[in-house]
Amino acid sequence: MLVVGAIVAWVVVVVLLGLGNTVGYHRLLTHRAFVCGPVVRGAFTLLGAVTGGSPVLWVGLHRLHHARSDGEGDPHSPRDGGFWWAHAGWLIGVRNPVVVVLFALSGFGQQGMIAWHDLRRVLGRNPPEWRDLCGDLMREPLMRGLDTPGVMPALFAAQVGTAWVLGGPAGLVWLWAVHLYLTNSSWAVNSVAHWPAFGRQPRATGDDSRDVPWLALPTLGEAWHNAHHRHPRSARHGLDGGLDPSWRVIQGLSAVGLATKVWLPKG
Ligand SMILES: [Zn+2]
Ligand SMILES: [Zn+2]
Repeated sequence: MLVVGAIVAWVVVVVLLGLGNTVGYHRLLTHRAFVCGPVVRGAFTLLGAVTGGSPVLWVGLHRLHHARSDGEGDPHSPRDGGFWWAHAGWLIGVRNPVVVVLFALSGFGQQGMIAWHDLRRVLGRNPPEWRDLCGDLMREPLMRGLDTPGVMPALFAAQVGTAWVLGGPAGLVWLWAVHLYLTNSSWAVNSVAHWPAFGRQPRATGDDSRDVPWLALPTLGEAWHNAHHRHPRSARHGLDGGLDPSWRVIQGLSAVGLATKVWLPKG
């Protein structure tokens, strides 16, 4: 019974935190696909921060990806270093597939890199380019607060402490599985959905972005990535009717008046 409860809780938490990433960090904060009040905006932002790190860091890197997609300066193009570079190798500056797979399986690897990023920032050693792309977010106290060095590592430490108190070693395994799934599903959009062997490219975008139907559910709709690169601001990524749970959530918020100015491409 306890195991069933842990699995149900895992699914609920993964979906909620996943939506924090897809609806919150990606469609709302990065691309301004819709407008919502401060409570909803703050809730999605906090959900995204649990595994994704500072919103300013995430949004800045992702805006850089769109500005340079599969070209010079794209932080994670497969053209630069292959599939595994695009998946997670770019986070640690490694192209060796074995090392990248081990990093990806570590589950908490991204949290280590976020802490390392904060340390380098305090020492003044980070390239500032991505931060320049987030002038809008930096006007918000919540975003500035979450972007303060040390806050994200403290949030992760709080997760580890809570998991330990609630479940001991099994609680830590549960938390590891949450991070393992959410980091890899998010990275898969950068690797699988930019890799020519997968899916299809119905829209001309000048990059390698792909629509990958089998990845749509695991990424809550983010795998309609060719459509997304063609219409980055669109609140809906499954523009041809494909499964897009994140869009359904935005639609639901709009239906009850919690989301307005929902942007969709014309025609
Ligand atoms: Zn992309
Ligand atoms: Zn995007």
